[in-house]
Amino acid sequence: MKRRDLLKYASMIPIGTGVTAGLIPIKTFAKTPAAKRDILKELGIRTFVNAAGTYTAMTASLMHDEVVETIKQGAKKFAMLDEVQDKVGEKIAELCHAEAATVTAGCWSALVLGTAGVLTGMDMKKVAQLPDVTGMKSEVIVQKGHNIGYVHALTNTGAIIVEIETVQELEKAINEKTAMMWFLNTYAPMGKIQHEEWVAIAKKHKIPTMIDMAADVPPVSNLWKYNDLGFDLVCVSGGKAMCGPQSAGILMGKKELIAAARLSGPPRGGNIGRGMKVNKEEILGMYVALEKYINQDHDAEWKMWESKIDTIVTFVNSIEGVTTEVSVPPIANHTPLLFIKWDESKVKTTNKDLMLKLRNGSPSIEVMANGNGINITVFMLQEGEEKIVAKRVREELLLAKA
Ligand SMILES: *Cc1c(COP(=O)(O)O)cnc(C)c1O
Repeated sequence: MKRRDLLKYASMIPIGTGVTAGLIPIKTFAKTPAAKRDILKELGIRTFVNAAGTYTAMTASLMHDEVVETIKQGAKKFAMLDEVQDKVGEKIAELCHAEAATVTAGCWSALVLGTAGVLTGMDMKKVAQLPDVTGMKSEVIVQKGHNIGYVHALTNTGAIIVEIETVQELEKAINEKTAMMWFLNTYAPMGKIQHEEWVAIAKKHKIPTMIDMAADVPPVSNLWKYNDLGFDLVCVSGGKAMCGPQSAGILMGKKELIAAARLSGPPRGGNIGRGMKVNKEEILGMYVALEKYINQDHDAEWKMWESKIDTIVTFVNSIEGVTTEVSVPPIANHTPLLFIKWDESKVKTTNKDLMLKLRNGSPSIEVMANGNGINITVFMLQEGEEKIVAKRVREELLLAKA
């Protein structure tokens, strides 16, 4: 039917006369909505109250509604991947005092792509050549105390790790093959050289620096602190305390290095980072999560964590033989942490047993073993869950009493 005919046809339908071919009252189709599908239940996947913290194995963090909403919106439109990265990157850079930024597939991928960018610069031949570093500066200097598993992200690019301990060793290690100096923020106390000195020595020799601060918010100011300090590349996880998408992270820093890093990732192929794709939904979600995190009331949040800890302490403290201790990890996962231990002659259970009982109870609860006791971290607890944890831990400790 042509449009003209259609209009004519429509105009012929009497108004208010009920059902005609083209005009069926909506009510006829209105059904009670089907019961919402619960895919986790359907697959028999155990879900749990997370009193352990942002562990990758436990899927780390839950996204805020704003982030989920952003992901839903993003999923319904096409956009050019590079444009999404450009626009989001600009905003993130502004928020974090960096020249430029890009969303990566977690902090790990920020480490890989950032290192790749340092090795290749804007040379597409070098991008295609990695992880073969022939003809490139390829040594990354790392303090011995910082050399734990995460350097594997750096060596993925073909880079070689050079370990040093003292300033003298560092000065000696720097040569024409030195590509970068890497710093692991959470292990800063394990190194002899601190941030400012690390950056100063690097600048003197015109060597780019990178810092891994994956799990090191709060405090929120860490998001710009290391950019302000002069690190050329800063890598952070999006799906830990920021509660962004679990497979997103941020690489930020010097404009030319971010541009170079992006050459090794999607949408471009034939590079080492093609598999480290972040979809537009998560890029957008990362931005919204970051923005929300920066703008939230951090003092109020801290007080809420303390009050959750208090609730749990109140429930278990009165049990004879049980002691509690509250601390705050100094750098990574810098949030209130509750340690519960007990005299095993009075409360006859091991921490492993207690963990299993909490895991197998209803609802299932995850805590962490520590020494002879358990650690409870509250920053991943959802509203009201502290009471559930408090009751369950008390219940199990009482049951184990001699
Ligand atoms: C968690 C973590 C990473 C990896 O971050 P993802 O966002 O999971 O990729 C890297 N470095 C450190 C120190 C971390 O704690």
